[in-house]
Amino acid sequence: PLVLGIETSCDETGVGIVRGRTLLADAVASSVDEHARFGGVVPEVASRAHLEAMVPTIERALKEAGVAPRDLDGIAVTAGPGLSGALLVGVSAAKAYAYALGKPLYGVNHLASHICVDQLEHGPLPEPTMALLVSGGHSSLLLAPDITSDVRPLGATIDDAAGEAFDKIARVLGLGFPGGPFIDRAALEGDPKAIRFPRGLTGPRDAAYDFSFSGLKTSVARWVEARRAAGEPVPVADVAASFQEAVADVLTRKAVRACKDNGVGHLMIGGGVAANSRLRAMAQRRCEDAGIVLRVPRPGLCTDNGAMVAALGAEMVARGRTPSAWDLSADSSLPVEETHVPDPAYQ
Ligand code: ATP
Ligand code: MG
Ligand code: FE
Repeated sequence: PLVLGIETSCDETGVGIVRGRTLLADAVASSVDEHARFGGVVPEVASRAHLEAMVPTIERALKEAGVAPRDLDGIAVTAGPGLSGALLVGVSAAKAYAYALGKPLYGVNHLASHICVDQLEHGPLPEPTMALLVSGGHSSLLLAPDITSDVRPLGATIDDAAGEAFDKIARVLGLGFPGGPFIDRAALEGDPKAIRFPRGLTGPRDAAYDFSFSGLKTSVARWVEARRAAGEPVPVADVAASFQEAVADVLTRKAVRACKDNGVGHLMIGGGVAANSRLRAMAQRRCEDAGIVLRVPRPGLCTDNGAMVAALGAEMVARGRTPSAWDLSADSSLPVEETHVPDPAYQ
């Protein structure tokens, strides 16, 4: 099936077009620079930027793919979770195009899309797949027996998301926003064993699949403050590398354990933090040791984009899932188990 997907859950206006599991176009317009001076995404600024970028980005994707709108088999859109105002821009656009073209509409879950996108790069997802989703808003371990209808949360962060921790530590170190890529780069010059930062929730009595990064965040900030108070230089590269090591250690340890406990032979890692070079290397090594096949999409498909929505939409069409109703709305806290929002009155 030929499907166009729209993503506007945060600060990226993404429009992707796929034919089955083949990527034809992936157009992304980001408002990230507009948020940089605030040190975080400002919802109202993001919504306005989506409004301006929506139609041009759809047209760019159609042109890039070389397809006519009338040939589409469906239009998919992120229905949640995410920022309400931002989501509404995408949902409204998707409804308008789908209704005007007479095509089925699929409101899909952002988290399931982050998993499904890997099909565009590595072929059909094995079922079940274990997924570690790590981004600015989420850190979750998900078991997906069927990406279109059955995604189960095994664990999640009890405080900050992994990406949030990267952004916060980058600020402490005086690096740019968003912090992940800056920490990643600074860490290349540092010693990951220089400072032993705490690994949250890894004690014998802690929840096996939940994460906590706020203790780590505080510990790094205190360490840096103490150096500054003593008038000593802050070894930025060593702090970045040691912090990154702690995050990668906890994430990969728990993901591999989830695979083993559940007898799953495949692990996929998605979300913006999956772009992290140390996380990728450590996951590769630990999966190999455990006999687990690791799948991580290229960095451009890990961060928010429209191709991931189109990928999940195409899977919905291929598996005959029920389309959404014309009164589909955005749900900022759509539960991860709801892979899509089917029309309850569909015959
Ligand atoms: P959501 O959480 O709803 O998916 P988001 O915009 O936060 O929204 P992404 O675009 O997937 O999601 O991820 C952005 C996050 O990824 C930011 O916190 C950023 O710092 C982090 N990130 C990006 N590149 C890297 C990297 N190389 N290393 C570590 N973190 C990274
Ligand atoms: Mg983003
Ligand atoms: Fe995302």
